[in-house]
Amino acid sequence: MTELVHFPMLIGGKPAEAASGITFQSETPYTRQPWADVPDGSAEDVDAAVDAARAALDGEWGRMTGFARAACLRRLGDLVTEDADRLARLEVQDSGKLYREMLGQLRAIGGWYHYFAGVAQGLEGRQIPSPNPDYLVYTRREPVGVVAAITPWNSPLLLMTWKLAPALAAGCTVVVKPSEHSPVSTLGFAELIGQAGFPAGVVNVVTGLSRKVGEHLVAHEGVDKVAFTGSTATGRAVARAAADRLIPATLELGGKSPQIVFPDADLDAAANGLVAGVFAATGQSCMAGSRLICHVDVHDELVRRVAERAAAIRLGDPFDEHTEMGPVANRPQFEKVVGYLDAARDEGATVAYGGAADDQLGGYFVSPTVLSVTPASTVFREEIFGPVLSAVTFTDEDEAIKLANDTPYGLAGAVWTKDVHRGHRVAARVRAGSVWINAYRVVAPNVPFGGYQQSGIGRENGAEAVDAYLETKAVWVELTGSTRDPFILG
Ligand code: NAD
Repeated sequence: MTELVHFPMLIGGKPAEAASGITFQSETPYTRQPWADVPDGSAEDVDAAVDAARAALDGEWGRMTGFARAACLRRLGDLVTEDADRLARLEVQDSGKLYREMLGQLRAIGGWYHYFAGVAQGLEGRQIPSPNPDYLVYTRREPVGVVAAITPWNSPLLLMTWKLAPALAAGCTVVVKPSEHSPVSTLGFAELIGQAGFPAGVVNVVTGLSRKVGEHLVAHEGVDKVAFTGSTATGRAVARAAADRLIPATLELGGKSPQIVFPDADLDAAANGLVAGVFAATGQSCMAGSRLICHVDVHDELVRRVAERAAAIRLGDPFDEHTEMGPVANRPQFEKVVGYLDAARDEGATVAYGGAADDQLGGYFVSPTVLSVTPASTVFREEIFGPVLSAVTFTDEDEAIKLANDTPYGLAGAVWTKDVHRGHRVAARVRAGSVWINAYRVVAPNVPFGGYQQSGIGRENGAEAVDAYLETKAVWVELTGSTRDPFILG
């Protein structure tokens, strides 16, 4: 057996082991072998991290200007870019995602810290004209406080960055809790925090095998805000815990996003967009475009083209530059995807390609799968979080929109058409936080991202993301020095 690499947590600016001394192992899904061991933190470690975050907020960090915070954010962006290769490798080992994709993602992540450095420098209150001329009124934007940032196992560093960068821009301090399935890259990233010049305790990372670690963090009386990405079921539990404490929660949850293809669409472009939407990242993407809503006239041809491309997808070692799809990230997820494929067969889906696990490579591999189904099918309705595309047909625009919106989710969607009027018209009627016209799976630091309905609450990225980490204070200044009637309002 190869020797396991070990990474400590980060608490109060120092590397930290779990108070219990216990560690747990992280498995690499390509070989199904453990490759790293990390601290198995518990409530005691969460308490220490929250205390450190509070102390940092009350200390030097709390007194720093937006310009000084921006300088730290910019340095962190530079460091992540310089270290992209090492961090990408940690993500690949932990989650089986393609090295090619993760390297690109890690190189892009620096842009988020740079963008939010600009936001930190530009935070402004406003001077409000008072209806009563005896007062000067202005607002201050103040950090909401200590933030609990809880992330899932797909793209841990990107999804952490979507929380960390705006939280730090706002002047908050943060306790990050990565997923028990892929904790390592976040610990590797933590090594850069001190180098970027953040005072001790501004960013802390706690890992733990039990879901109780996240639970304890959200319920902690020292936490002022929760930023969560994960499943809708866990999001509900997090929202309940936040409601009990009356603290705000930003929730980025699941999705079952539609891709609507009209008969005038460029079918090659649409087929490519469908592949990008549901087979990239082995379909383990919250924004996966997993529901194909296709005009009846082009269904057979489009499904044929997507199935043909799916058949040519190279499965294999995620470190190999020729590999196009790696394994599913962990055993429970693999079992879940295979369970959905069984359900599709039982419910009479027509399999254009795939439909089963691929046992030849040893890892948690599933064949890219293209199914034609009915709108009532389980695979068309429920989030699978795997490489499974389910297609249904429509005959007119209203029916397409009805099918697209017939879901409890609302994270993303796409419209494929060459008709510019129709493109905008349909995009406006799809109830989702992001809609691409003739494209799929594009994000940027300055463009808001988030869900309607059960896909979440609040937005990450974009100018409005920072609002979730700020309180607004109105300051009233009496200008005349006179005494007023104490028994009337205003
Ligand atoms: P998950 O909900 O199982 O876990 C997410 C995180 O929450 C993990 O760190 C976990 O340890 C922690 N956690 C578990 N129970 C908790 C509790 N009671 N209180 C606090 N924290 C708790 O999700 P997952 O399986 O890791 O990720 C897959 C899901 O994430 C999918 O549903 C996917 O759609 C969603 N996702 C959404 C987005 C988005 O931006 N909308 C992005 C990526 C993934």
